[in-house]
Amino acid sequence: MTVQTASLKGLDLLAEIERLKRERNAVILAHYYQKPEIQDLADFVGDSLDLSRKAAATDANVIAFCGVRFMAETAKILSPDKTVVLPDMDAGCSLEDSCPPDQFAAFRAAHPDHIALTYINCSAAVKALSDIIVTSSSAGIILDQIPKDQKIIFGPDRHLGGYLARKMGREMLLWPGICIVHQAFSETELLKLKAEHPDAPVAAHPECPPHIIDHADHIGSTKSILDFALSSPAQMILVATEPHIIHQMEKAAPNKIFIGVPGGDGNCNCNMCPYMALNTLEKLYVALRDLQPRIELSAEVMERARVPLERMLEMAGRTVGQGDVGKPVLPIIDHPEEIDPAISGD
Ligand code: SF4
Repeated sequence: MTVQTASLKGLDLLAEIERLKRERNAVILAHYYQKPEIQDLADFVGDSLDLSRKAAATDANVIAFCGVRFMAETAKILSPDKTVVLPDMDAGCSLEDSCPPDQFAAFRAAHPDHIALTYINCSAAVKALSDIIVTSSSAGIILDQIPKDQKIIFGPDRHLGGYLARKMGREMLLWPGICIVHQAFSETELLKLKAEHPDAPVAAHPECPPHIIDHADHIGSTKSILDFALSSPAQMILVATEPHIIHQMEKAAPNKIFIGVPGGDGNCNCNMCPYMALNTLEKLYVALRDLQPRIELSAEVMERARVPLERMLEMAGRTVGQGDVGKPVLPIIDHPEEIDPAISGD
C-alpha cells in the first residue's frame, strides 16, 4: 500500500513528526541506506538487526521502521507487543523476492538431510522455515560451530553464501538470490577509480559479486564498513555498498573523502536501493499519524521465526552487529550453481 501524500503540502513535516513521535510514544529507526533527511531525524541509525534490538530495549509503544519490509518484520518478531509501522509497505527487497516461502519449503523438503542457514534478508515466513538466521557479521562464527559433515542450505543471497563457502572452505547449497544494488557495481568502473586513487582502500559488502569482492581491502557488513572507513588512516575510501551510508561517514569524518563505487553507467544512481528510496518524510508522517501501514504477522509465524533468530544470538551474540567477515581465503569462483545443479532449476 502506498500512502497518499498530496494533501500534506505546507505542513512543517519535521515538527509534525516530532509531535507525533511524542504523542505515540514512538521510536524512529533508520537504516544506513535511507535518505539523509530520514537518517538525521531518527532516534537510531544502523543495520537492521541492531535497530530491531535497540527498539526492543526501549519502552516505546510504536516502532517506525524506515527501512524495508523484512527489517520491520524482524522488529515485530523481537517486539511482538509493539506496533511496527513501515512508511511504505512496497519497500521490499530483491533478496526477499527471490525466495518465496513455498519454493523454499519445497527446496528444504527435497534436501531433508540439510539444515537451513538463512541470511536475515528474507521474509518472516522464510525465517520461520529456517534453522539458524545469520547476519553478515555472525555467519562465519556460526558456520564454525556447525560440524563439518553437516550439510547446509544457505539462502537467499548466493554472493554472501558463495563468499562464506570460499572463506570457510565449506560446501553449501546456495539459493540463487542476489541484491540488485550490490550486483550493479561495475568492475571496470572500480578499476578506473583504483587507478585514479591508488592509495584509497576499497571497502565492500559481501552481498557484492566476486568480481568486486576480489578487489576489496575490507569486506564486511554496513557497520563494519563504516567502522573501517572511520578508523582507516587513509584519507580517501572507495565504498562498495549502498551509497547513502556515506552520509554517516561524512558526518563522523568530515575531513575524509568517501567515494561510492559506480555502476556500469559510471555514476552511482543504479546503486541506490529503489526499495529503500520509497520511504519519504511525508510517508513517515502519515505512518505515525495513522499507525499504518502496519506490520501484521501471525502468532505462529512470529513464534517459529523467533527460534532461528534466537539461535543466532545464542551462537554469535557478541559478534552480531560487529560486522567484519574478513578477507577471502580461497580463490573466487562465481559459479555457485555448480555446488549443486538442483538449485539452478528454480
Ligand atoms: S540494498 Fe539490496 S539487500 Fe538491501 S534492501 Fe535493497 S535490495 Fe535488499
